[in-house]
Amino acid sequence: MPPGSPTPRASSPRVSPPPVTSDGLRDGDPFVLATLVAAHGGDVLVYAREVAPPDEALRMAAAVFVDLRLAVLSGDDLAEDVDAALLSATRRVAARQAENPFRPGEHRRPTTRTTVCDRFPRLLTAWADHRLPRADAVRLREHVVDCPDCDALNVAFDRAETAYRDGPPAELAPEETGALVAAMALASPG
Ligand SMILES: [Zn+2]
Repeated sequence: MPPGSPTPRASSPRVSPPPVTSDGLRDGDPFVLATLVAAHGGDVLVYAREVAPPDEALRMAAAVFVDLRLAVLSGDDLAEDVDAALLSATRRVAARQAENPFRPGEHRRPTTRTTVCDRFPRLLTAWADHRLPRADAVRLREHVVDCPDCDALNVAFDRAETAYRDGPPAELAPEETGALVAAMALASPG
């Protein structure tokens, strides 16, 4: 070996994780489910911690993985982009969560809750998914100026998106990993 050339790396005894395929997800292959959770469970959990009460975050994260698996079971082919599908699922579940009486911080509820307020979580996540027409996006921006409730929600979702995209993923404890994998394995339509 010529001097200065890199030392060949010893071959790793680790088995590489299986690719996350639609078939693997549909079949509930435990290795595939575990691979997906290991890769993204921490991202989903940091998102959930921004938009859900602390004791609900893990449950929300589990709902995201259930939602994704149900999408596959109903025929969606996610092989193309599992990452994008997971982020969409995260937004869908977060919107559902926020439609529950959700009050981030101590913001006062508006005296009159408008239909925009009721639809706000879904509009917000549609916007994040680039599915919201421009006119609606403008209306959304105008609405938060006068509605502290929706403004707080807007801020929480914005933090969640940033944390998911740029922040370090949450470290999953073994029991959290187990909870997410089990929820996904047990997901069944209806
Ligand atoms: Zn509002």
